[in-house]
Amino acid sequence: MSDPRHMKRAITLARRGEGKVEPNPMVGCVLVRDGKVLGEGWHRVFGGPHAEIEALRAAAKAGPDVRGCDAYVSLEPCCHHGKTPPCTEALIDAGVARVLVGVADPFAQVAGRGIAALRDAGVQVEVGIEHEAASDLIAPFARRVTAGRPWVIAKWAQPLDGRIATATGQSRWISNDASRRQVHQLRARVDAVMVGVGTVIADDPQLTARDVRRLRVARRVVVDPSLRIPLDATLLRSLDAGHGGGPVMIATAQDAIDAHAATVSRLQARCCRCAGGRRRACLISSRCWRICRAVTMRRTCWSRAVRNC
Ligand SMILES: [Zn+2]
Repeated sequence: MSDPRHMKRAITLARRGEGKVEPNPMVGCVLVRDGKVLGEGWHRVFGGPHAEIEALRAAAKAGPDVRGCDAYVSLEPCCHHGKTPPCTEALIDAGVARVLVGVADPFAQVAGRGIAALRDAGVQVEVGIEHEAASDLIAPFARRVTAGRPWVIAKWAQPLDGRIATATGQSRWISNDASRRQVHQLRARVDAVMVGVGTVIADDPQLTARDVRRLRVARRVVVDPSLRIPLDATLLRSLDAGHGGGPVMIATAQDAIDAHAATVSRLQARCCRCAGGRRRACLISSRCWRICRAVTMRRTCWSRAVRNC
């Protein structure tokens, strides 16, 4: 019989990789025999060993033979040669008797083949243990591999009456220190932070992650179809090295670029300033939607998008 406690533990372990494994999914693994945990592991960093390999290594280090044990894995083990060898082979070679899977992998190169490979080798497989929590864990990854779209987190501060501002627009800081800290933690682990130009004009934000541990530096994207961004906006001024802000992308329309040549050249003069040899900001035209689809992709993909636009 499967024990949901072990799958919950695998999911908890998986979350330790948040902000470090993307665009891979977060995955956790617990090896159990007769109710005793023999090894635990999680996918720690993009390109690094998968959770199953980490758990097998942890068990080997601690000494117990894992032959005949159960493996609780939050996501279907991979069966393809990616950056690492297939986890199905490692589990089979280790003599694992049963694999309990949280959710099947939606990635086309796996999509049930990992489960089939295990069963073909005589390993018992159960799928769907703590299915909802395991699915939540991989939601951004699933969105990317099934729809080719980014996972978007919408954020706003709202009081109980459901409004977000007074009629005069003068109200500020209905959020508090705790909620603002959450916002900075979010900014510290995503690939991009996007606002409309109205927010830049009204609030003049930096859109940086401050006073939290930064797992990655988010691109700052301003959706500005009419090119109204003030040239002295803080986020443009913070392009200079030392402010900790990521590159800025201004998504605008070709019409606006044609109509505001002076603004464009002044923005380009600022945008083309380089820090550390990399272009720090970029003016992109209506092709932006193609580029925005890359939001959940690796930073290198973003760099490529910046270079190509
Ligand atoms: Zn794997």
